[in-house]
Amino acid sequence: MMNFEKRPVLISGPCSAESRDQVMSTAKALQSTANYFRAGLWKPRTRPNEFEGVGEKGLPWLKDVKESLGLPVMTEVANAEHVDLVLKNGIDAVWIGARTTVSPFAVQSIADALKGTNLPVFVKNPIHADLKLWIGAVERIDSATKGDVIALHRGFSSYGLKKFRNAPMWEIPIGLRSEMPDIKLFCDPSHISGKRDLIQSIAQKAMDLGMDGLMIESHINPQVALSDAKQQLTPKDLISLISSLKIRDLTLDKAQTLDLRDLRIELDSIDERLVELLSGRMNIARAIGKYKKENGLTVLQLSRWKEIMRSRKVWSEEMGIEQDFLRLVLEQVHKESIRIQTDILNSGLGEGS
Ligand code: PEP
Ligand code: MN
Repeated sequence: MMNFEKRPVLISGPCSAESRDQVMSTAKALQSTANYFRAGLWKPRTRPNEFEGVGEKGLPWLKDVKESLGLPVMTEVANAEHVDLVLKNGIDAVWIGARTTVSPFAVQSIADALKGTNLPVFVKNPIHADLKLWIGAVERIDSATKGDVIALHRGFSSYGLKKFRNAPMWEIPIGLRSEMPDIKLFCDPSHISGKRDLIQSIAQKAMDLGMDGLMIESHINPQVALSDAKQQLTPKDLISLISSLKIRDLTLDKAQTLDLRDLRIELDSIDERLVELLSGRMNIARAIGKYKKENGLTVLQLSRWKEIMRSRKVWSEEMGIEQDFLRLVLEQVHKESIRIQTDILNSGLGEGS
């Protein structure tokens, strides 16, 4: 059984195991700070021909870390075969990745392979924002293994320009906690942020929300990492990040759902997405501005503006938003787009000829 007395329980290690040396030197550097050492052996990559992990070959490397450093080790499993190999090689815990959690068939076959064992399993949220699917995966695994089952929040994919690699949408892990108050909840700030400089604030937020632990990727030399190079921290940076966290006492009842705090978290999360969307919209306005400049079109095109107001009026009716309010918001957004495009049109004036 895992020990959750310390907060945060820390899982750290590289995104992928790459070589015996890389695994061992990273583990040594993390030994005094991490409670669990992680390294992916089988890597689910978005595109083929990217580094797909060293596979089985890395199992003895992890065993070495466990035996020579006394640091418990974990890796990702995506099918029953992985589970069998992990069990045979004395790996201490596993996680199920976001791309696997989306498939109840895949999760069930992992659950079947875990039946009767006491392997602790971390279940990452599915790639998309579906609380029920996440809960369902936790339930499937929980009814199979006798070991701990922990939910692991790694953010949610969204299309287009964004601040985060995977939007945190904090209301979803909070929703999971209120439906499953006995399940421990961890956060993976590395896969939420996608870049090093956001990790600290996400980790702090997870702690402020009372999460039990963190999984943060660390590589002995992130610059040359074969996967997720931009988001991996050196062990030294990881150690200073962890010591910078402020761990406050939890006074609020964890199982309470509709309290003011949770509503505010949801509100913050929506505002964060609004800002992301506005930033995406201004980028499009910028691209249109360049097009207009190149093609000698005027910035303000009245017929287009009329069409915008007409269609948005229909949307406001559909979504139950006060029309006058929406008009005011859109006028401001439009004004900003015009300002951006006018700047583009005027830029470079007087240059050349
Ligand atoms: C990982 O932990 O390296 C990983 C692949 O994570 P996720 O499933 O969250 O993308
Ligand atoms: Mn990774």
